Amino acid sequence: MKHFIIIGPPGAGKGTQAKLMVEKYNLRHISTGDLLRAEIKAGTKLGQMAKALIDDGNFVPDEMVLKLVKSEIAHHPDASGFVFDGFPRTTTQASAFESYLKSLGMDVNGVISIIISDETVMERIHHRALIEDRKDDMRDEIIRNRITTYHAKTEPLIDYYKKQEKYHEIDGEGTIEDIFAKISLLIERLSR
Ligand code: AMP
Repeated sequence: MKHFIIIGPPGAGKGTQAKLMVEKYNLRHISTGDLLRAEIKAGTKLGQMAKALIDDGNFVPDEMVLKLVKSEIAHHPDASGFVFDGFPRTTTQASAFESYLKSLGMDVNGVISIIISDETVMERIHHRALIEDRKDDMRDEIIRNRITTYHAKTEPLIDYYKKQEKYHEIDGEGTIEDIFAKISLLIERLSR
């Protein structure tokens, strides 16, 4: 089984690239953002707790996303591998996740970090706001909060995974196809 993590700021193209990886390499996509939005839509207790936090551009509690991820993994024992998109987002999530995978005899094969500038984040989210109906994409103040949160809470994962020699950086400023070509090369190298 091959397991990959995609990290990056909002609008980096994590979801788009994860979907392409799923098609090409027969992996299963686990996006904590999508799972949380599904909980909100279904009106579950977890969704109700998460909604205000997400709408304001804040992270939901670590335990909440860990619960969702564990349940997804447990429900797909036949998956040939997973792409974790937007998870982990904090070092607390990363270490809890590592222990959980270890308990299942699993490990992360590689962490793909898509890098774009803060200005590009703004442009991409403004564009996405015209296409998708996400409340957290509507106001600059909320987008800025998500950028600040990414730098403060998610960027420490870079060192975390560098220490484990799992960290790989991809320049996310090009076209979807260019970026996917670079990711494909990386996956094939890591899968050897
Ligand atoms: P995304 O679709 O990945 O941009 O996620 C949308 C929102 O869901 C984020 O801005 C957070 O509020 C929340 N979220 C998604 N994944 C996580 C995570 N791993 N930890 C905490 N909050 C998360």
